[in-house]
Amino acid sequence: MPNPSALLDPKLIYLEPSVLGYERGREILARFPDAERVEVKSHTRIPQLYGDSASAEDWLRLKREVLVLGVKKGLQMRPNGRSADFIAPSSSNGCAMACSYCYVPRRKGYANPISLFVNVEQVAAAIRKHAEATGPKAEPNQVDPHAWVYDLGENGDLSVDALVSDNVRDLVTAFRGIPHSKGSFATKFVNRDLLDYDPQGRTRVRFSLMPAEMAKVVDVRTSPMGERIRAINDFVEAGYEVHVNFSPVVVHEGWQVEWRRLFREIDDVLTPAAKAQIKCEVIMLTHNERLHDLNMSWHPKAENFLWRPDLQEDKVSQNGMTNVRYRHGWKRQWLDQLLGWIGEAMPYCGVRYAF
Ligand code: SF4
Repeated sequence: MPNPSALLDPKLIYLEPSVLGYERGREILARFPDAERVEVKSHTRIPQLYGDSASAEDWLRLKREVLVLGVKKGLQMRPNGRSADFIAPSSSNGCAMACSYCYVPRRKGYANPISLFVNVEQVAAAIRKHAEATGPKAEPNQVDPHAWVYDLGENGDLSVDALVSDNVRDLVTAFRGIPHSKGSFATKFVNRDLLDYDPQGRTRVRFSLMPAEMAKVVDVRTSPMGERIRAINDFVEAGYEVHVNFSPVVVHEGWQVEWRRLFREIDDVLTPAAKAQIKCEVIMLTHNERLHDLNMSWHPKAENFLWRPDLQEDKVSQNGMTNVRYRHGWKRQWLDQLLGWIGEAMPYCGVRYAF
């Protein structure tokens, strides 16, 4: 296991009392014997972390030094249709990384350290039951031609979670035997422990990529871009299906040159085996005024790129929040340009969806 201390060094663990009744809970606690333990009624109600009192200046320390352990209550699947067919119940929530545009904490508050759920066996059992009841996929769709795909990491980054628990190993193992299905998660962190999980083609890892110049500004605490690109080959060799998310696409002066260089770099690095199976998603940046205001207090440099009222317009999202996105006509034009460059540099790379 890599030394997690650069990203995660838990000194304080909030836990629901029932966590002690689960082997996974006891295992995680045993890994951090010196951490202070504080019992909480619910992993969702820790005002020190999730309210306004979690000051922006303190976010990065909280992400590194705090872990939350809880039990996942709702075990329902939700339909998706974009990155996956279904969103599976989470095995975690929150993230030790700190991308400036991250939408994960919008509801919870912004410190948002990792909460791990210790009943991963129940999560895997719920997915299995759903897959068995759903039956085989009759028609191919853009998500996958054959398998039903379950997103496992909607609320965080599983590669980082795997630094501190075996939840991800258990899910990857479970998908080897869940009929006509695949697990899938997006990641910005290269955790080479995952190379030993033996996924047998039943887990899709989606490495999120953007030009390195922009990632250095907005992808705070993530793995360097070159490392993510090189990891694709190793993950394919280890038995994962590996796709890429070109996301978010941040438009600024000079963005075209940077993206074209990125596509050429990927083409240079990938092995024939990786190229033969790769597909991508392309997602243009959306941002949010509240997040912009918060970011101004800890990382204003990123906002020079993310907050561009001269290029953006308001949009009410599916969940009713008001976000900003690139103005409609320009966005379509820029998306078409990007798709053209992908086609030129990586003609083997199908685009699963772009918006
Ligand atoms: S890696 Fe993903 S979940 Fe973590 S901060 Fe970045 S965007 Fe958010």
